[in-house]
Amino acid sequence: MRISIESINFNNINKNLKHLSNEQIVEVIEKYYRNEKIQDILDEYKISTTPSTLIKTFPTKFVDEKCEKCGCQLVVKFKSKSSMYEKEKVNCLQCGHDKNKRFCNCRLCKAEHKVMFLEKEEQLKKALQEKIEKVQNALESNEVLKILEDNLTLEDRLYMSALLRCSLSEDMSIINPLGKIDRILAPTEKFVQEIIKTLVARKIIKVSRESSLDAFDIRVDETGAEGVTYRIYDAKYEINVISEDGDYGALIKRLMYPNPEIFDEEFCYEMWKKVALKESEEYLLYEMRKVGYNFTPGEKTYRVLENLLDQFSIGQIYNIIYRAVANSTRRYQAKEITKIHAQNSVIASCELQGERAVAENWTLKAYSRRIDVPQSIISEVLFNSIMQISTLGFSEVPTKDFR
Ligand SMILES: [Zn+2]
Ligand SMILES: [Zn+2]
Repeated sequence: MRISIESINFNNINKNLKHLSNEQIVEVIEKYYRNEKIQDILDEYKISTTPSTLIKTFPTKFVDEKCEKCGCQLVVKFKSKSSMYEKEKVNCLQCGHDKNKRFCNCRLCKAEHKVMFLEKEEQLKKALQEKIEKVQNALESNEVLKILEDNLTLEDRLYMSALLRCSLSEDMSIINPLGKIDRILAPTEKFVQEIIKTLVARKIIKVSRESSLDAFDIRVDETGAEGVTYRIYDAKYEINVISEDGDYGALIKRLMYPNPEIFDEEFCYEMWKKVALKESEEYLLYEMRKVGYNFTPGEKTYRVLENLLDQFSIGQIYNIIYRAVANSTRRYQAKEITKIHAQNSVIASCELQGERAVAENWTLKAYSRRIDVPQSIISEVLFNSIMQISTLGFSEVPTKDFR
């Protein structure tokens, strides 16, 4: 290895080499790379260091390149013979910038990072401010006249009673996010969405300005138009109903505890069937998930469950579902059928069990509720407060004739 003396940076010579001339230093370097015994080199040139640290005393070498940060001369360190394949450390003499380092920490890079960080922070702040404005505009344009209490339908009253009991704030001013409540409003997530969307669409509740910003999303549709959407479980809601007498406290009381007498048999029967259908679906999903089936109920499932509810109580349908799932997993585990086949057979099996029970006149035992599938608030309000049939709502077949 020949080293030209001009290529060496003699500006900052290590104290252990100070007694040598520039030419001698070059000789030392050349000998080192020529694999001469290092101890011999040390002895010959009277260098007081150890063989392994000799390399550290070498001066740097000029690189035929300028620093990209400040335009000054770049230098590179000599590499030890044992690390010849490692990346070179190319530094700027002026600012210390390390050309090959991904996260250089030189003074100029540090300043650059700081500017970038501030810019990024500024952008985030701006984006946040924009979101706040968009959400506020959306909420403002959504301001509507209050709905008169007398105009509420029976369905509105049932939904409101359940919702207020579920998450009305202590000072009665706001409906807290459903996602933060331990109790569940309705048996299935779809039913919860239906309740909230219905009440919002009928302007009985409105999304509150007090909602956290995270409860909103800015979405762009296919035409490029922006819209603000809210997350059902994260938003807070305000009650948008007024009463003739203007007494808010009394209104809230009537909304939470509506007079059971206003709910006629027809309405109660339809709601019983609806809640029963959702509770059957909830239990079906619970049993399916428990055995690892990946199942999303479709129209056929609903038709089968509806049909069963003409003949059976929710408790009896629990029994049917439990056996259908157990049967299918038994056949799957015995390798009689595939997993997909097994999970698809559950609904058909429920249907068949129902038909046989009727044809063969079985008395199907009604199961009781399970602790890990707790009763939802809407179910409690309907069966306990409005219909006043309590657990019969679960153990009896839905009928108009419940009073
Ligand atoms: Zn530089
Ligand atoms: Zn740098």
